[in-house]
Amino acid sequence: MTDVRDELALLGGPTAISKPRPHEIWPPDADEPELIELADQRNDDISIRGSSGPIRALENDFLRFLEHRVQWAVTFNSGTSALLAAYFALGVREDTEVVGPALTYHAALSPVFALHGEVVLADIDLRTRCIDPAGLERAITPRSKVITAVHQWGHPCDMDAILDIASRHDLRVLEDCSHAHGSRYKGRLCGTFGDAAVFSLQANKAIYAGEGGILVTNDSEVHDRATLLGHYRDRCREDLIDGRLRDYWVTGFGLKLRMSPFNAIVARHSLAAFPTRKENRHKCLQYLGERLSEVTYIEPAYVADDVDMGAWYGYKPLYLPDSLDAITREVLIKALRAEGMEIGAPSGPDLATLPLYSEAESPLFPGLPKVANVPAADSNAARVQRQALSLPTFNNWPEDKSLIDDYIVAFQKIYQNHSALVDYARSA
Ligand SMILES: *Cc1c(COP(=O)(O)O)cnc(C)c1O
Repeated sequence: MTDVRDELALLGGPTAISKPRPHEIWPPDADEPELIELADQRNDDISIRGSSGPIRALENDFLRFLEHRVQWAVTFNSGTSALLAAYFALGVREDTEVVGPALTYHAALSPVFALHGEVVLADIDLRTRCIDPAGLERAITPRSKVITAVHQWGHPCDMDAILDIASRHDLRVLEDCSHAHGSRYKGRLCGTFGDAAVFSLQANKAIYAGEGGILVTNDSEVHDRATLLGHYRDRCREDLIDGRLRDYWVTGFGLKLRMSPFNAIVARHSLAAFPTRKENRHKCLQYLGERLSEVTYIEPAYVADDVDMGAWYGYKPLYLPDSLDAITREVLIKALRAEGMEIGAPSGPDLATLPLYSEAESPLFPGLPKVANVPAADSNAARVQRQALSLPTFNNWPEDKSLIDDYIVAFQKIYQNHSALVDYARSA
């Protein structure tokens, strides 16, 4: 058994973690029934007419998963495509602004640019990592049209505050639930608060199609316009509610962003397996959080009392360098990797650091502005970008318990040996 007083693996000592990486294996392998259904679909229909077969079945499953708090679900070939359709349906166009979080996965906001819209970044809350309501309200201008609430890394946004701001300023709310399948705010499922919500079903997500996304809404106009953006022909003729919009059924609005039936089959199986997987994930990550609270230089991921973390999406504690001789995050990660840990900096990122966001002019449509109100260097977004760590989303309970214990030994080894690590960093 490795002892926390052993020499650091980085300096030639034994490793604290013996299990070889990767420690997070996702997505899980298909079981036999899933493989059989995929094979049958191959000879039955490799395309899809309208919304028949596994497409409609997935959409119905998803409405049930959301406890029928939403009326319509429309599948797309990716979460990004579903977000494009959502922004379009919510009225984003030239001279409109979308206010969103300064730190998130870029695709939550990037489709706005394809619609000639502008993105206004608001700072995030340091604990939840979701858009900060006060920062959001400050970012609103007369041109604001949509608030994007990303339930970052599975933690729900402060929906009471966001809905209140939206109603006072007459704005629409789009929830990006790509990290938050099954997450709940005050008992209510994420994806049932906004004018529309999008769930990515990409392979890394808790419910996965491989590639895919799903848009849900209670607004018939949003349903119709989003459908027309990505689904021409049969589906538009069959599903559109507004007769005038249905006149466009042959062409839709010119784009085809449909999900394939194979992806829908994979998604249905992952949706069915989700409740059990979620329970195991929660046991692992609750235990990880408890054990990490013993590590003085790590602040465990925050979970508010009135939320359910649902899918989680990775585990992102904050590194407190002041409690570890100001060792840089880079050196810390290097030392922990040497101990056998699967750890890195989160791929967040702070959107202001990406060229698509940082350059003043749109590369898509030169002449158009694109992003305003970039949070300052001392913002919470910048701080999370600098100091967060990314740990695996452990999924196997109780098998992963001893692995988590080894992770804690590795963290404590660093603490015991911090002077040696300071010397190492100085001489490197
Ligand atoms: C994954 C993700 C997306 C994009 O989804 P794709 O299915 O990969 O296109 C959008 N927003 C967030 C927050 C995501 O994590």
